[in-house]
Amino acid sequence: MKVKYNSVVKFHYRLRDETGAELEHSHDGEPNVYLHGHRGITPGLEEAITDKEEGDVFSVTLPPEKGFGVRQEGRQQRVPIKHLRGKVKPKVGMVVSIQTDSGPRQAVVLKVGKFNVDVDTNHPLAGKTVTFDIEMVAVREATAEEVEHGHPHGDAGCQH
Ligand SMILES: [Zn+2]
Repeated sequence: MKVKYNSVVKFHYRLRDETGAELEHSHDGEPNVYLHGHRGITPGLEEAITDKEEGDVFSVTLPPEKGFGVRQEGRQQRVPIKHLRGKVKPKVGMVVSIQTDSGPRQAVVLKVGKFNVDVDTNHPLAGKTVTFDIEMVAVREATAEEVEHGHPHGDAGCQH
């Protein structure tokens, strides 16, 4: 079947930057699973998966506005090291998780001081054109319960 609204989709991906260098991939583990049409994945990728079928292999290149967002100025802030989640020892360029008013958020470390770090809270891939190489693993109809929850369930049912 072709992917449409409320399909449960399983796929493997390889993510590359503008130069073709690989950023990450899913091939070492379980494929990604999501419920189509509920913004469970990057919007441009969801669009590209519409109407694809099990076994399809394709690539899609996404500009920032369809991928991980446009880089915004003024997103730098100073955070006490002790407020970083996961008790990490920060280094420049590292992606850390900080607590904000709207929940935890990923940020990139710009500068490390004795007690504070300067971070940029743009998504680490914001402003970048990225390419996804997609391998469609499985497509099925969602159950009524999955549609109601807005996410797919594993073999053992809802585990949330
Ligand atoms: Zn559920």
